[in-house]
Amino acid sequence: MKEEGRQDAVLEALAERGLGALIVTDLANVRYLTGYVGSNGVAVLGPRGRSLLTDSRYAVAARAAARGVDVVIGRRDLLGDAAALVPSVAGEGAVGVEAESLTVARYRRLEAMLDAPPEPTTGIVETLREVKDADEIEAMREAAAVADRALAAVLGRGIVGRTERDVALAIYGALLDEGAERPSFETIVAAGPNGARPHAVPGPEPIAPNTLVTIDLGAVVHGYCSDMTRTVATGPLPPRLAEIYAVCLRAQQAALDAARAGMGAAELDAVARAVIGDAGYADAFGHGLGHGVGLAIHEAPGVRPEGTATLRAGMAVTIEPGIYLEGEGGVRIEDLVILGDEGCDILSHAPKELTIVD
Ligand code: ZN
Ligand code: ZN
Repeated sequence: MKEEGRQDAVLEALAERGLGALIVTDLANVRYLTGYVGSNGVAVLGPRGRSLLTDSRYAVAARAAARGVDVVIGRRDLLGDAAALVPSVAGEGAVGVEAESLTVARYRRLEAMLDAPPEPTTGIVETLREVKDADEIEAMREAAAVADRALAAVLGRGIVGRTERDVALAIYGALLDEGAERPSFETIVAAGPNGARPHAVPGPEPIAPNTLVTIDLGAVVHGYCSDMTRTVATGPLPPRLAEIYAVCLRAQQAALDAARAGMGAAELDAVARAVIGDAGYADAFGHGLGHGVGLAIHEAPGVRPEGTATLRAGMAVTIEPGIYLEGEGGVRIEDLVILGDEGCDILSHAPKELTIVD
């Protein structure tokens, strides 16, 4: 089964790094490696044993879901139980811990319980998660379709005069109605000048006519996230807002046309950034072009100017250029794509031609 194959890959990575075991504390990594879903879980993987620790609240769920591991029911704080397992599962070498997930305080406590200091590691499981298998892609395709339907349902009821918050709540409900387990992050609805803030929080002001409204939403299906942004017009636009929409769409399309396995993440970022720069808006596109998506809404690889990853077939990334003009408004257009050797498979299907929504 696939979880055991993933565990095998972790053991290979440990051997390459000279590590004797890995204590997995990131819950998305625990889920990926074992199939277990819950708010408290630690996996301990070594050449002599593979265990999943959780507490009694999740005992039944863990035994039903976990694959390829012994399920151990521990206390609420699982660090001591994890440390106690190490001698029976570990091989030669230090015990690896996940530096991105383990707090310094928990690291210190673990250090005090083990015979030798644990070795902070990064990216062992996250690197495996970058390339999606067919089941993961299907879950994300469905999550993207849920978001497409939710957005269409809410826009169909009109947005002018409603508050950003009201529209965000309507999207929340529509995502659940359409089959999401939950939203993959808090929906962004940013109208008028608020659109100049990429991560604006939906506010109590009514949405005005004749401006741009940026809506960023996503669904979770079978644990996997989708992520999509559309920017719509609430009537005929001032020329500058019409222009930045057209430039952003051109930049997004250029990146979609270019995206394929084998290119560098920074190289893909540069395709969209060049279009925006040539139009004179380089300073108005401050964030990266995109990010990996999977069990987490933001995961590796980063698609940014400083990104060092080489894109591989099966990676799921967003392509989301934006142009933000303080005091005026903003635009972002985001699709979730699966990279292939010849191009990319676009999972989001909501229309991108500038649409007027009353
Ligand atoms: Zn987004
Ligand atoms: Zn995104």
